[in-house]
Amino acid sequence: MKACSKCGSLKHLFLFYKDTRCKGGFKADCKVCCGIRQKKYANKNKEKINTYAKVYREENRELINENCRAYYKTHKVEMNAQNKKYCMENKESLRKHRALQYKENRGRLLAQAKLYGEENKEARAIYAKKYNKENREFLAKKDKHRYDKKKAKYVDTYFEEHGNYPPNRLGSDNDTLYVWEVVDELWADLPIFKIGITSERLGKTRIHQVARSYGFEYKVHLLIKVHNESATSLECRIHGMLDVIPKLIGDGATEFRACSYEQMEDVIKMITFDEELLKGEE
Ligand SMILES: [Zn+2]
Repeated sequence: MKACSKCGSLKHLFLFYKDTRCKGGFKADCKVCCGIRQKKYANKNKEKINTYAKVYREENRELINENCRAYYKTHKVEMNAQNKKYCMENKESLRKHRALQYKENRGRLLAQAKLYGEENKEARAIYAKKYNKENREFLAKKDKHRYDKKKAKYVDTYFEEHGNYPPNRLGSDNDTLYVWEVVDELWADLPIFKIGITSERLGKTRIHQVARSYGFEYKVHLLIKVHNESATSLECRIHGMLDVIPKLIGDGATEFRACSYEQMEDVIKMITFDEELLKGEE
């Protein structure tokens, strides 16, 4: 038994820290008092301790990393479990921390991503193609969800304000006709085509959007500005011409059709013949 120099209570020796520099081999104050003393010191010297720790970490980075790795190797299971538990219990604060970190490093991260994208262009294109194909249904659902959300935001508020839906031509001049083929897909051994209208200034944007919404790769066979009649009526005529060919999916505006390359060539010839004839008269 030994009396604590701080609180004065008589305590068992195992309630004192060992210290060979001290008389009798134990510290003069008990473990409890020692803890209080250390806490007080830490509170008073926060900055000094932090700076010291920082310098130590910087000077011994490699050694620390090595020790951490070695420790992880032997404590993998419990460390992973602990980590998981911590993540679950601190979900919200971790999310906030990540968001803040992203905000602070946004410029650097974006530049990094851009550089990576440029350096791995080909590999990424191959991966994207594979991913699109494998996740067709999921992507279509996602696109539809996004469209519905936008629709609620733009179209429905427009409806509320104007008492009517925005005119169909709002985002498009509808002066251009396109024909594209669904790459790597067949229907009853026939290639599948999509015919539709867009506007010249949009280029292939609309084609890309529609193809993506179905998860298809596309090959454009025709993209032509229509002069001598509205693209809409020309589209109707073509669809009438193709009425013998089965429709595949979608409603009147978004149907896909399967036909031979010869048949599609005839359709394209018809469109371009009419258009070129008009151009000659100009
Ligand atoms: Zn004490």
